[in-house]
Amino acid sequence: TPALSRPDYRLPKSSEAFARAAKVIPGGVNSPARAFGAVGGEPPFMARAEGAYLHDIDGHKYIDYIGSWGPMIVGHAHPRVRAAVSDALVLGSSFGAPTVREAEIAEVVAAAVPSIAMARFVSSGTEATMSAIRVARGVTGRDKIVKMAGCYHGHADCLLIQAGSAATTLGTPNSPGVTAGAAADTLLCPFNDAEAVRRILEANPGRVAAVLLEPIAGNMGLVPPRPGYLETLRELTAKHETLLIFDEVMTGFRVAYGGAQERYGVTPDVTALGKIIGGGLPAAAYGASSEIMHRVSPTGPIYQAGTLSGNPLAMAAGLATLELLREPGLYDRLEALSARLAEGLEKAARDAGVPHVVQRVGSMLTLFFHDGPVHDYEDAKRSDTALFARFFWEMLARGVYLPCSQFEAAFVSAAHTEADVDHTVAAARESLAAVV
Ligand code: PLP
Repeated sequence: TPALSRPDYRLPKSSEAFARAAKVIPGGVNSPARAFGAVGGEPPFMARAEGAYLHDIDGHKYIDYIGSWGPMIVGHAHPRVRAAVSDALVLGSSFGAPTVREAEIAEVVAAAVPSIAMARFVSSGTEATMSAIRVARGVTGRDKIVKMAGCYHGHADCLLIQAGSAATTLGTPNSPGVTAGAAADTLLCPFNDAEAVRRILEANPGRVAAVLLEPIAGNMGLVPPRPGYLETLRELTAKHETLLIFDEVMTGFRVAYGGAQERYGVTPDVTALGKIIGGGLPAAAYGASSEIMHRVSPTGPIYQAGTLSGNPLAMAAGLATLELLREPGLYDRLEALSARLAEGLEKAARDAGVPHVVQRVGSMLTLFFHDGPVHDYEDAKRSDTALFARFFWEMLARGVYLPCSQFEAAFVSAAHTEADVDHTVAAARESLAAVV
């Protein structure tokens, strides 16, 4: 465990690496959230990771609560995942032809996720949600989709409207480059407001292909669904013959083995999965009933494809990870560890006298510097992001690697220990004392 007292925290090697990268890669990063834009400053560059820890190229060790933004639920470089990937690697890294593992993992996913009888694998969460929408449009013959403000579904055109995650963090929830036509087909609702969805569906009879949402929002910070919200969306969509799409890219295999749909007992028509399903390699999937999925090419006319889809290394990593998640008691342990962390952070913030609320579902959580519960994007945006930024740097200096934005969820992994959590809470007490 890293030393608690604030070390002389400097990042000279990372800074050099960042300057070099910034000359050839926009912002020095291949995904905007990594650039630390919201918290001001330059990110540490990572050298390696194991279990719950990251090591940067400047020699610092961190307790990691990002977990590569969700995938690393069994911890980094898990021996079983590593072995599965290296065994697969010697057999060849990509064939562009079917392999047995693809059916194997699809069977595992179909057994796990209530809404999925058949799945198609892709390489990113963006592709999964984009394809889910195409399927919904193809099946219903309708154009419009309902999206919730502050939810993030990847960077497909029609979904970069009031998008959460780094799009919000960096002040670009509506990206230039999205056509007016694409934006016009996206109808926005506040998260957690079923009445708004009802009004939109009634105002657009026969025109809405799908209602899409993160069943637990993770990209405006962690915002759970209000009791009854998902159930009402299920009823409304059924009534209007609109498909309900759960984007479980973040929550799938995270908040329960069968995702949020298992946890809340609400079954959507179509589900997008990503992150954990690839075990740290690029894999994602979308799935639905056989009837819907048979409409996808080559059995149906709805086209979707991918050179590296179902990649053997990614399938091996995903299968090994999903197998580890079936270990009895694993989700209970994640729940207990995460509750310990949430309670510790809550008490530390209360003792420090800062406006705060800790929101958590399973092993996803956010400490909002916000007075009272956060139910939607507008609430989330009222958080004290300047205080968050100062807190973030104090935590980083104490060896705790939190998401670098108020509008992201932190993830606990099965590799974290109670000692890690207690260290984190102690670091939070010191950090809060330093920033108030
Ligand atoms: N959907 C959700 C809920 C996500 O959190 C993300 C990424 O953070 C995506 C979709 C996009 O996934 P990817 O970054 O793999 O394209």
